[in-house]
Amino acid sequence: MMIRRLIAAAVCAALLPAQAQVLPDLGDASDAVLSDKQERTIGNRVMREVRIDPAFVDDPEISDYVKSLGNRLLGAADPPRRSIEFFVVQDDAVNAFAMIGGHIGLHTGLILLTRNESELAGVVGHEIAHILQRHQSRLYQGQGKYQLASLAALALAILASRGSSSQSGQVTEAAIVGASAIMAQGQLDYTREHEREADRVGVTMLERAGYDPRGMVSFFERMQRANRLSEFKSAPSYLRTHPLTVERIADMQGRVEPMAARLVPDSFEYRLARAKLRAGSGSANEQVTYFRNQLADRTVLRPREDVYGLAFALRRAREFAEAEKELATIRSGEGRHPAFEWLAAQLQADQGRMDAALDTYRAALKAYPQHRGLVHGLAESLLQAGRTTEAIAWLDEKVRATPDDAKLYELQSRAFAATGRRLSQHRAQAEAYFRRGNLAAAVDQLELATKVRDSNFYELSMAEARLRELRSQLAIEREAEKALKLS
Ligand SMILES: [Zn+2]
Repeated sequence: MMIRRLIAAAVCAALLPAQAQVLPDLGDASDAVLSDKQERTIGNRVMREVRIDPAFVDDPEISDYVKSLGNRLLGAADPPRRSIEFFVVQDDAVNAFAMIGGHIGLHTGLILLTRNESELAGVVGHEIAHILQRHQSRLYQGQGKYQLASLAALALAILASRGSSSQSGQVTEAAIVGASAIMAQGQLDYTREHEREADRVGVTMLERAGYDPRGMVSFFERMQRANRLSEFKSAPSYLRTHPLTVERIADMQGRVEPMAARLVPDSFEYRLARAKLRAGSGSANEQVTYFRNQLADRTVLRPREDVYGLAFALRRAREFAEAEKELATIRSGEGRHPAFEWLAAQLQADQGRMDAALDTYRAALKAYPQHRGLVHGLAESLLQAGRTTEAIAWLDEKVRATPDDAKLYELQSRAFAATGRRLSQHRAQAEAYFRRGNLAAAVDQLELATKVRDSNFYELSMAEARLRELRSQLAIEREAEKALKLS
């Protein structure tokens, strides 16, 4: 829910009328297209909230998959530029969106609606194109000086809603109603010109990256048809923000026609990600039934992703033994996969067979040392088994190898807490917040760390040095947000 509101804030606030707000003067930030840095500041501000929303999908297999798909497309952009963060939101509504500052979110509902990987790549390519062509920044242009203040007003209202007072809740509702009213009028839509450009750039990117550009056409066509036949519960907001017309589809068709037809098989990672998202959505029993039906008349060649999906849904239904039985059929032979090992180890841990779980993790990590699910899972199981010293050693090794993985620091913080090492606990938690883009929370944790009594002198000076460093970064960030009236 929150994420959708924030998207509304990021995308639409530019057009909110600024009446009833006492607006400070914005000086020279008022009349120009947003600069790269300004875009990033707004994007980071919004992403800070998005990342802590329960609907934000933090699963390393899912996020690594969309990241690799997105980066493959981005690598085919001409010229390849700026990094984009790709993430998934647990939401059945069919939607995908690009946010100012270079962040692209995909709803699970949209991923599940795609029928092949090229279709998914088509949507992502289209969103990437909106960012590369700076369409949002251009939408901001010409809105006058009130745009940034409105964005700030809305962002503030939304932040206030995180507090518990009912008054702040009302403020938020008012701001959201304002935003949706404007959305309904269609003022926030990308223009047809933007859509045509995003299609053109997207199709080229798709072809260069080795996907089937026809995937983009078939997906948009199906969406349009489904919408016309009212197959969606409500019209997808995707269709509202990205106006889809008969001419647009005809244009796309004309564009892909001369391109050589190519059959691009789906990657197993795509099939697996889809199965996992499906198995994880709705009610567990519903999904058990779905996957059982998928597998009903397939006794010989059972698609591995469906067996995996069934096992995953069975685990959610707490039918652990049954889940293990299904999973066992795909764990051996040619089709081995780290995702299967991760699930197997989790099932063993679920049933209290900690030694077996640890063995499964260690064996699997020999074959797939980079798989983040296995890396995190081993640490979690060590903690669960009370083997804290081993957990700390393992996390220490992994933090050195992949210092950007926020989850590792969270696990480290838990491990230190279990041993009563409070200074280290706060330091690790600070690093986790830092990597999730929350500087203020990181500084808070370091302040707590430096107040721990009887701490080791060396560790204390490390914490103090890091605190000074992050405080000055925070000051710069606050300055930038203040200039944009975001704080
Ligand atoms: Zn679009």
